[in-house]
Amino acid sequence: MFSCAGFTFVSSAFAYAPRTAGGSLLKWRSQQIVISVSNTGSEHVSAADLENAVRKSFRKWSDASGVEFVIKRTSERDVSSRKSGGDGFSLVTIAPTAANMLLFEADENNSGVTRLFFDKKGRIVEADIVLNPSALFTVDGSRGSFDLESTLTHEAGHFLGLAHSDVRGATMYRHQGKNGVFNLPGTYPRTLASDDMAGIRHIYGSPRKGRNSFGSLSGALSNQQFKGRDRSVWLESASTGTVVAGVEVRANGSFSFKSLPVGDYFLIATLGDYSIINQGVGVSIEAGREKRVTVQSKRSSSPNRVRSFGFNGQISNLAVPVEAGHRYTVYAKINGEFSDRLRLESGSPGISVDDASLAFVYERKGETVVSFEIFVSAFTGRGEYAFSVYDGFSEVGYLPGVLIVDEVRNPWHSAFF
Ligand SMILES: [Zn+2]
Repeated sequence: MFSCAGFTFVSSAFAYAPRTAGGSLLKWRSQQIVISVSNTGSEHVSAADLENAVRKSFRKWSDASGVEFVIKRTSERDVSSRKSGGDGFSLVTIAPTAANMLLFEADENNSGVTRLFFDKKGRIVEADIVLNPSALFTVDGSRGSFDLESTLTHEAGHFLGLAHSDVRGATMYRHQGKNGVFNLPGTYPRTLASDDMAGIRHIYGSPRKGRNSFGSLSGALSNQQFKGRDRSVWLESASTGTVVAGVEVRANGSFSFKSLPVGDYFLIATLGDYSIINQGVGVSIEAGREKRVTVQSKRSSSPNRVRSFGFNGQISNLAVPVEAGHRYTVYAKINGEFSDRLRLESGSPGISVDDASLAFVYERKGETVVSFEIFVSAFTGRGEYAFSVYDGFSEVGYLPGVLIVDEVRNPWHSAFF
């Protein structure tokens, strides 16, 4: 796993997050951005593979928003130094030069760094992506390596001004696994999540095609009793249960989503530990309109006891990829002792949890691991899915994006009897 340099890990729940500086949104002024890819590879990555992966990675962000890229080759190799204020050329490099290697001195397990240069108004004027020249990147899913395209897709999000998201399974999630996580075959997920697409459209608007299929949402929490604490709101599709987007609540209790796909949603507000602070609210987004909503927050909130999720004997911060049409055993790590009052429930009609399967696995240092059997029905579509956590009948927690249905194969399903 790696976490990107320049961002420290905090255990708070923020979803897609445009980066800001001095109160302004960091954003490229032009909707057409020129990128130069270094023609020097590394020990593990050829210049041709690098350029190919850059094209595929940026294309995904382009397809999801109104931004276009012009990709060129260059003999340049070095990241611009912070002191220099940039040279105006946006570079993608993996060349093992001293300047590039230095960026990974503090954390040699880090796979990539994106350095942004912007003016006082928050307009990005240059962004350099440096992939760790010493790290093992592959394009074929080799176990223990970083997937070149997944890593570049994540850094491309930073390049465009996005910070990290706390939707697990999102490309902009702060932790990314290596190929082979949870003992799964194949490559680490490469596709953008709905939350990533919502994030990029928030900054740059939607692609020209389909501009009339988006609307926006703004709202506020009804009271400020949790003021000063990290708060987020998440939107789940009412029909499929996928986590469509999430945003941080501002200090004054307000929040906004721009360019949401038209449809019906279910809105959930949480604190930084993912404990629930509202009764669920239904919201309809209409084309070209801004919907306003006031969210009643609860007077008190019980702490969410579930912190991490797992699969195949591994507990992790990463999303668990599953395939539709199969049954799986998943793990949850909870604070405190085992309680048979604990229940998980999915917002998706296609994903069911067998309550009777809840089982104690082990307890260590005040933390307990439990297991659940889940069934992902054959008609479950691609996307990131959440689980709600119940203590008896009260809903205490919300785990956005812990389960993903994607192109990733997961052959470790339970047999049918
Ligand atoms: Zn990052």
